[in-house]
Amino acid sequence: MHLKSLTLRGFKSFASATTLDFEPGITCVVGPNGSGKSNVVDALSWVMGEQGAKSLRGGKMEDVIFAGTSGRAPLGRAEVVLTIDNTDGALPIEYAEVTISRTMFRNGGSEYEINGHKARLLDVQELLSDSGIGREMHVIVGQGQLDTILQATPEIRRGFIEEAAGVLKHRKRKEKALRK
Ligand code: ATP
Ligand code: MG
Repeated sequence: MHLKSLTLRGFKSFASATTLDFEPGITCVVGPNGSGKSNVVDALSWVMGEQGAKSLRGGKMEDVIFAGTSGRAPLGRAEVVLTIDNTDGALPIEYAEVTISRTMFRNGGSEYEINGHKARLLDVQELLSDSGIGREMHVIVGQGQLDTILQATPEIRRGFIEEAAGVLKHRKRKEKALRK
């Protein structure tokens, strides 16, 4: 499994549709300060279901929508599409290629699609949760986060081990069932 491409449309500084294609192996994003490198990483966690504005380096969720510049009006929606190569079947879905998209409007919540079909956040989370990628998974390590892990309490450290062992998904389901 590897990430094939990421398309941003109205997401943060990417007002016009922009697609990044990834090859297997290492991808490096380079550019001047403020050119949008971190915004690309934010788009990746956002499309995988990130719910925290702070994790996306914003004050509120709608800060991910292009806010306008001196030469360009603000937009009303942000959209990110992630395409994953699943020829090895790492994702529990019968498709060799999986696309996940998330759209958000200024006046409302988020809509998700998996391979063009409307999906819930939970569907996206479950699709990704056994693969080692996705929200709350430590595939995106920000500056300073290594320190947090090294200095974690035993409870938090247990969470990392559960994640690696793939039991996090079942814990989430149990918590959801108990809340009903
Ligand atoms: P550095 O090298 O300093 O880490 P970077 O390439 O990671 O820079 P980003 O943090 O990705 O840069 O991009 C910051 C830019 O994105 C800023 O110019 C900011 O104004 C712009 N930006 C962030 N959110 C929005 C938004 N909602 N609408 C328009 N522009 C935005
Ligand atoms: Mg940056």
